[in-house]
Amino acid sequence: MRDMLAQGRVKKAANLDELAKIINVDPNRLKAAIESYNKVARHEVETDQFGFKANHTDDRPMTEGPWYVARKVPTIHHTMGGIHIDTGAHAVNANGQRIPGLYAAGEVTGGIHGANRLGGNAVADLMVFGRIAGKNATEAK
Ligand SMILES: Cc1cc2nc3c(=O)[nH]c(=O)nc-3n(C[C@H](O)[C@H](O)[C@H](O)COP(=O)(O)OP(=O)(O)OC[C@H]3O[C@@H](n4cnc5c(N)ncnc54)[C@H](O)[C@@H]3O)c2cc1C
Repeated sequence: MRDMLAQGRVKKAANLDELAKIINVDPNRLKAAIESYNKVARHEVETDQFGFKANHTDDRPMTEGPWYVARKVPTIHHTMGGIHIDTGAHAVNANGQRIPGLYAAGEVTGGIHGANRLGGNAVADLMVFGRIAGKNATEAK
């Protein structure tokens, strides 16, 4: 957060009027949006207009500053498909046979994580199979 603030990627505001100015929105609409969230967080209503339900311990009313804001965009988190490899990080063809001289690891591979990926496992995957691929490639195994 400290680094993001220093880079200007996160902005800090003491109150909602200041925050509205930073993101260039009507302060009253911003306050109404926060209040709409707070009503759900206080369990005064079950959902907001978007269907949000407060069913997590982090879903608490937001009433105190400072307020932080950052622009968010959708991004690809991880791709499940890709080149199939064996335990030696050799790329294999559709019949499961090694393709000589071709190794792969990390994001470019597919099938390592089954049908879904546990958060954090991509880094473990690329470190483990990257090392195996590099080792086997240099030893031409
Ligand atoms: C926002 C976000 C959050 C994430 N958080 C997590 C997390 O918390 N935990 C986790 O485990 N995973 C996380 N992931 C997934 C993880 O970051 C990726 O799976 C991982 O970085 C893939 O590493 P990689 O080295 O296989 O591929 P990449 O990191 O994609 O590296 C490929 C490299 O190859 C380079 N390249 C491409 N084409 C060429 C070319 N023709 N010639 C030379 N170089 C080329 C690219 O520039 C790039 O540097 C996150 C991903 C995103 C996007």
